[in-house]
Amino acid sequence: MVVGNHGLMEEKIYLSSPHMGGKEEVYVGEAFAANWIAPLGPNVDHFEESLQQYLGADQYVAALSSGTAALHLALILLGVERGDEVLCQSLTFSASANPIVYQGATPIFVDSESDTWNISPQHLETAIKDRISKGKKPKAIVAVHLYGMPYNTVEIGALSKKYDIPIIEDSAEALGSSYRGRKCGTFGEISILSFNGNKIITTSGGGALVARNTEHKNKAIFLAAQARDDAPHYQHSQIGYNYRLSNVCAGIGRGQMEVLDAHIALRRKMNVFYKNLFAEHAGINVFSEPSADFYSNHWLTCISFDEKRNAKNPDGLREALLANNIESRPLWKPMHLQPIFKDAPFYGDGTSEGIFKNGLCLPSGSNLDYKARGRIENVIVDYFNS
Ligand SMILES: *Cc1c(COP(=O)(O)O)cnc(C)c1O
Repeated sequence: MVVGNHGLMEEKIYLSSPHMGGKEEVYVGEAFAANWIAPLGPNVDHFEESLQQYLGADQYVAALSSGTAALHLALILLGVERGDEVLCQSLTFSASANPIVYQGATPIFVDSESDTWNISPQHLETAIKDRISKGKKPKAIVAVHLYGMPYNTVEIGALSKKYDIPIIEDSAEALGSSYRGRKCGTFGEISILSFNGNKIITTSGGGALVARNTEHKNKAIFLAAQARDDAPHYQHSQIGYNYRLSNVCAGIGRGQMEVLDAHIALRRKMNVFYKNLFAEHAGINVFSEPSADFYSNHWLTCISFDEKRNAKNPDGLREALLANNIESRPLWKPMHLQPIFKDAPFYGDGTSEGIFKNGLCLPSGSNLDYKARGRIENVIVDYFNS
């Protein structure tokens, strides 16, 4: 492609693109060889098993067609119904909130804290008290580990206990992250994972519900497979869904699990690369773990611009990267600022809005080699020197 005076455009560098380990095609091939081209089969069983082993003892995984489907089923398992209210982190991807609306419930959005960028314990408690005083106790809390950074599991967990409101842990971006050695995906009453194309590992599209007991896992699988009662004919006493993961896609997931930790190490190296690159720039902060208790998979490395100290801005850098065929992206725009959720209640003080305004996600894939990093570095250095 010839573009302007850049001459031949170099290959596109993506924010986060699929990175195969090698064995994926072998497992997909097994699915074809055995004619298991269905939303069940040996790859699904193996993939669930390896996720369970990875997350640790007493984790029960149901592989599903997406992280969004997993969130939807989590809400159903926790009894969320029409007219209910569900607390939800505002600074997140829309899929954290949409399933609340699928259930006919109302999302109540909560602001972020500035050190983890995730749901603020202070605003969460204000929201809980206020909703209770208005006569409705929220049915669940959707807390998110944004960009792989664990939320404040201690304080959010304590509030969940104190008010007896279960947590749905949206760990879509945080497979392999941990807090005090405990893996993300094991904190909530129910947790969810995503294997979409741009996530830490992918099945091309897929997700999982992670339960703390077999009852929740089995119920999730029952609902995900059209809620068929135990009868020789097709009999239904409940509304079902078609949310199981394909055995072909699960083959990709099996292969990806074999390289998960190696790919996390590479993502974390990308984070160090940016820390070194921005070490000289006083007005730029590379989003990092607030303390040694936190371990992020650094799914995406994000920076924030200090407004007061900086003539440069996220949009300018994004456009400079784009002109060189390098993808970067604004942070998630908070849900309470989205047109579709403009009428939903919000509790906060503008923290997530500020994070959104001043932030930028940079290319963070585990497959960015020396040459790609060199191109990124050149554009960033040029931008700040211009
Ligand atoms: C990707 C993502 C989801 C949804 O997962 P899908 O598999 O794409 O449906 C949910 N929450 C967050 C925070 C995500 O990043």
